[in-house]
Amino acid sequence: MLTLSAIMAVAVSVTVPAAAHMAPSSRELPSIAYAASASDATQQVSSAAGAEAEASVPDQSFASSIDTEISAATRDALAVEKIVVEPPPAPVYAGPSGSFAGSYAGEFAGFLAMWPASAPVNDGFGYRGAGEFHGGIDLMTGSGATIVSASPGVVTQVTFGGGWGQFIKIDHGSGVSTLYSHLIQGSQMVSPGQTVAAGTPIGLSGSTGYVTVAHLHFETYVNGSRVDPMGLLP
Ligand SMILES: [Zn+2]
Repeated sequence: MLTLSAIMAVAVSVTVPAAAHMAPSSRELPSIAYAASASDATQQVSSAAGAEAEASVPDQSFASSIDTEISAATRDALAVEKIVVEPPPAPVYAGPSGSFAGSYAGEFAGFLAMWPASAPVNDGFGYRGAGEFHGGIDLMTGSGATIVSASPGVVTQVTFGGGWGQFIKIDHGSGVSTLYSHLIQGSQMVSPGQTVAAGTPIGLSGSTGYVTVAHLHFETYVNGSRVDPMGLLP
């Protein structure tokens, strides 16, 4: 922003005197024709200045960038909208949320390379109030979020049906595997037997199976038994 302002300041201080050097006849004729409004007059000076800058600067691309800055300055709303456009944010994977500290502290603590989605944890692993056991954690991804493999491994299962809806299971070796469920039906990007890296997209979050709202139900297994994913996540 500071640099842009500096460029614009230079452009103005250079081009305004440059326009003043033009022949009086060529300046006055358009001035009369466009005397209707101040902005027309400004536009006229701007294009004259732009033409002048183009003529005196041999580098065409440099001249056209000056043109862009001048027209941007005369159209506030549009120019501001253009400048604030940002590239999509890089994925930031959620860290543990305080209320669901991992109950697993075995030899595979921190085994997984990354979180499977960028979303807060809404429901932890273990027994819920009514005695119902929750075998994983729920990440509030909403619908359509890209779900990634939490570690390198081999896809062992891609299945649709039952409480998990569309789900995928990945074997990471050493007896550790992960399960990703409630994906959008048919959104899987991997197939059984496929090798994946940590971060490989595997499907899209959804609400298939027994769910009330779209989220990722994520489970981790050590030697076939479900353990608290919070303990295995980095
Ligand atoms: Zn769940």
